[in-house]
Amino acid sequence: MIPNLPTPHLKFRTGSWRTVRPVLQADKCNNCLLCWLFCPEGSIRRGQGHVTIDLDYCKGCGICAHECPRHALQMAEEAPSHLEGGAAGA
Ligand code: SF4
Ligand code: SF4
Repeated sequence: MIPNLPTPHLKFRTGSWRTVRPVLQADKCNNCLLCWLFCPEGSIRRGQGHVTIDLDYCKGCGICAHECPRHALQMAEEAPSHLEGGAAGA
């Protein structure tokens, strides 16, 4: 079993940097954790059957979507409210 390790960068809420966000198609995800391995912000969480994304810390770099072998993650434009307010985790 792979633990969710505490990561020092979690004190920086990089979600406010984001202009695009990853959207998961859960039915395509086989929980291989490749995206978890590559995410530079540690914002991908292991879950039951598929991963989830912590948008408080996701900066929208798109690496997860690029690396996913099943194309389960697609990058989508952020809502205007997130861009105007810079609210993390919108
Ligand atoms: S890389 Fe793709 S298939 Fe693997 S856990 Fe991430 S979203 Fe799921
Ligand atoms: S876009 Fe994906 S790889 Fe980049 S910070 Fe967000 S969850 Fe992590």
